[in-house]
Amino acid sequence: MVYVLRFEMVCYYVRATSETGREQISIARTIGRLVGGLVAVGLFIGLLVLPFMETKILKRANTSAYSQLELVRESLDQRIKRFAPLPQLIAQQSSLLALLKDAENEGLVPFVNEQLRLLAINIGGTDVYLIAPNGITVATSNYRSERSFLGNNYDYRPYFTDAMGGAASQFHALGITSRERGFFFSAPVVDGTEVAGVLVVKMTVDMIDAAWGGLDNEIVVADSNGVVFMASQPEWRFRTLVRLSAAQKEKIETSRQFPIGALTPLTQTLDVVGNDGVRMDVFDGDETVPYYTQSVPVALRGWHAIVLTPVSVIRTQTWYAVAYWGTSVFVLLLIAYLIMQRQAQRREVERLQMAERDLLEKRVNERTLELNTVNRKLVNKIQDHQATEAELRNTQKELVQAGKLASLGQMSAALSHEINQPLAAIRAYAGNAVDFLDKDRTGNARENIVHISDMTDRIARISKHLTNFARQSGDTLGAVSVGDVVDEAITLVMPKVRKTGAEIVFDRPDTDYTIIGGHLRLQQVVVNLLSNGIDAGEAAPTAIVRVRIDATPDTVSIFVLDNGPGLAPEVADQIFDPFFTTKEAGKGMGLGLSISFNIIEDFGGKILVANHPDGGAEFELVLQRTHQKPEAIT
Ligand code: ADP
Repeated sequence: MVYVLRFEMVCYYVRATSETGREQISIARTIGRLVGGLVAVGLFIGLLVLPFMETKILKRANTSAYSQLELVRESLDQRIKRFAPLPQLIAQQSSLLALLKDAENEGLVPFVNEQLRLLAINIGGTDVYLIAPNGITVATSNYRSERSFLGNNYDYRPYFTDAMGGAASQFHALGITSRERGFFFSAPVVDGTEVAGVLVVKMTVDMIDAAWGGLDNEIVVADSNGVVFMASQPEWRFRTLVRLSAAQKEKIETSRQFPIGALTPLTQTLDVVGNDGVRMDVFDGDETVPYYTQSVPVALRGWHAIVLTPVSVIRTQTWYAVAYWGTSVFVLLLIAYLIMQRQAQRREVERLQMAERDLLEKRVNERTLELNTVNRKLVNKIQDHQATEAELRNTQKELVQAGKLASLGQMSAALSHEINQPLAAIRAYAGNAVDFLDKDRTGNARENIVHISDMTDRIARISKHLTNFARQSGDTLGAVSVGDVVDEAITLVMPKVRKTGAEIVFDRPDTDYTIIGGHLRLQQVVVNLLSNGIDAGEAAPTAIVRVRIDATPDTVSIFVLDNGPGLAPEVADQIFDPFFTTKEAGKGMGLGLSISFNIIEDFGGKILVANHPDGGAEFELVLQRTHQKPEAIT
């Protein structure tokens, strides 16, 4: 059963979590099945407990029946005990004997009648009457009533014959005159040793059993013959619980105890009396109604009080109990189901949360792994990049060097002329000096030697600049004097200037501006710009290159303007590319501007170019200004 419920529960949960119409129908079906299942379980358990219930309810009914019986017996016994001694007491009244002796005495009858009436009132509304030995009633408490016993003959009643025999007696019967059932208690009225008459006290029972009606149970009091004398059901009175023998019937008839026609069997069931829980089927008109019976003996010998509980009442109560138990089981199962469902729901939510967490964790791990891989790749790339950059720097250095050497190569013809010229002059001065000394013209010889000394100074200066220029420059940056750099660069290009007949115009400003950079590298850039300017002015009658320096608070600019044709638009974009040249083979390598560009960028500066409105190209080196003192040349 638990498995079935669990299965239903899962179905319900699965369906309850979906929202489409079809699934809602399915939920309704599941709920229907569930409720049906629970009801079936409830019914099944109810049926299981049915016999047990019936016994239990019967037992309870028995208990209450017994207490009812006790009450009936008590009240009956008490009445009988109260009334039984009364006739003997009353019989001792002298007036009774007086009347019996003088029955014709008309004055005495009313007196005794009234005396008995008052007595009857005193003992509780019961008839009290006096019977003469011939059976005729001579005085009675009900003398005023229409159904007065006065003059009635009761010689057939056993209570009369018994009392006439000298013994107190008791009898029960349906009153002939009163049509009331009653107990008759009688005693002889004695005159010495003779019985002069009989005093009777009648106790009616109609009022007693009339109060028993309206209950679930029926109550019956049967006499020793098994005739129902008192009953909660008026129709059951005088019916018999056992079949009467002919002798019994005759006795009843003779004593006119009960109407003979009423003595029909109430039931065929035997052994009803004294056997508790026996089923008794009562013939009630056309149908037979079953009862359970309980009985107790009452104070009169052979008498029994019986309680009859309808089997249908027990059945109904049993069904109620079963329904109650079934419903309780149903409700308990429902509660258990709801609790289980809640737990299952909670477990499911936890499971989903767990799965989600696991998935998230897995994703995070995957992403972390991916990121690690990407990171590693990035690190590798950065390392590659750094290696490439280092390589590039080396290459650049080599290029700078190569560029310088290329410039030197280009300048070598002019340089050899520059050096050869003072050398030839030195040779001439020396030869002349020797002649002057031979002729003792020491003054002239001295002049020549001074000239020779000037010439060697000039050669030494050129050589020094060349050495500096050719030297591989360091990477470090420092404060550099812009004026000095331009002066030295002009000196370096002087051989080319002389050779080409060009002109360099430089108005060195009074302020010695300093910038951040490398002395030799800046010198190399300026030499390059001057050299290109001279080349550009080739076509002009005289190539003129103008150099000027300008400054802002943060920058210093070196302008180099030539009088050449300027830069053609298609060339302007490429002039900073390595190996781009428009010059004929042997004259240019196309490295000068590309190296210059890198050098100026290394300084944190810019190299700009534009065609001047008056013609010619103007290069501008924009450099970071500093106010530190220029450092030693590096
Ligand atoms: P090279 O001088 O060896 O050709 P550069 O890199 O110094 O190499 O110059 C590259 C090219 O830029 C030159 O070939 C020339 O066409 C152009 N150029 C450079 N300076 C000037 C200038 N002042 N006027 C016109 N063109 C120039």
